Amino acid sequence: MTQNLIKTVFRKEILALSAYKVAEAKNLIKLDAMENPYTWPEQVKEDWLQLIKECPINRYPDPEAKALLATLRQTNKISAQSGVLLGNGSDEIIQLLLMAVPEQSCVLAPSPSFVMYQQVALSLGLNYQSTPLLADSFELDLPAMLKTIEQTKPALIFLAYPNNPTGNLFSAEAIMSIIEHAPGLVIVDEAYAPFANASFIETLTDKPNLLVMRTVSKLGLAGLRLGFIVGDTAVIEQLNKIRLPYNINSLTQVTAEFALKNQALFDQQTQQICLDRAIVLAQLNQLPHLTAYQSAANFILFRTGKNQAARVFEALKAQGILIKNMSPQGGILTDCLRVTIGQPEENKAFIEALTSIMESL
Ligand SMILES: *Cc1c(COP(=O)(O)O)cnc(C)c1O
Repeated sequence: MTQNLIKTVFRKEILALSAYKVAEAKNLIKLDAMENPYTWPEQVKEDWLQLIKECPINRYPDPEAKALLATLRQTNKISAQSGVLLGNGSDEIIQLLLMAVPEQSCVLAPSPSFVMYQQVALSLGLNYQSTPLLADSFELDLPAMLKTIEQTKPALIFLAYPNNPTGNLFSAEAIMSIIEHAPGLVIVDEAYAPFANASFIETLTDKPNLLVMRTVSKLGLAGLRLGFIVGDTAVIEQLNKIRLPYNINSLTQVTAEFALKNQALFDQQTQQICLDRAIVLAQLNQLPHLTAYQSAANFILFRTGKNQAARVFEALKAQGILIKNMSPQGGILTDCLRVTIGQPEENKAFIEALTSIMESL
């Protein structure tokens, strides 16, 4: 009975999906989700609480989040010529983009990349296409991408820069070529901008089909759920029509504005994370049978020996350390694990546990 009900009510694409699962991390050292491991000094927390106290929570939030928007424009060096749209996390913006294109549209991204592009595209019944990255370098296969663009005329192309889960920055020339050949929009997803010395923000004013998307999540505000996308005002205007009017709640608006005005605090934290990333990378590459890849983000992808990813992942978890097993995604991620850079003591615990696991394999 219920099965029949389910089948009549839901689209077949949704019946075929599985939910995005988030691992339970209670009592574990959490190095699985690209979070910033640091909190704020007590005085900063006190100042924040003062602002929260005055927040008129009985009222709807400012639908345009004007104060926050002005701060974001300033801290991200966004040109006054460009339009900006805010989302409840950049995940919501990915959903808005995909909701806005015609039925049957093709959507293209390299593979592997951020899983939400595919998850949301499929849930909306769009034609999702992916082009494999080059196996040795994780670089874009530009000829293959251009061929797919020519054949499928994608309405949207998603390029994560740096890419998740590989951590590398794709060739900027290859991205420019894709932007120039794309018949639709190209979204450069800069979720890891705080850890990378590269961006397409300054290219925006020359390329009307380019959008740059960012988030405050990886910077250190994952709990707020705030992302934004920058681009041509005419493109942003269309997207704004399907944005729900109060998608950025009052507490997020007040907190993000306050936090971004403490930019020096985040600069210090992200610099520390980048220093520790170099240490963890070197330590991983000293272990036998492991290959760790260079990263421009706050995580490192590494490859274990053949068929050992699940064993290593479980052994780490048994020792209280949660990372992410990428191997089930297959393809060039077979045998791969991904670790987020934590505080120095957490990284040390991870490397020590991994060292003993690799010795006992
Ligand atoms: C984490 C991540 C996001 C999602 O960010 P939210 O703003 O937290 O929704 C988007 N894109 C990439 C590539 C990511 O890794």
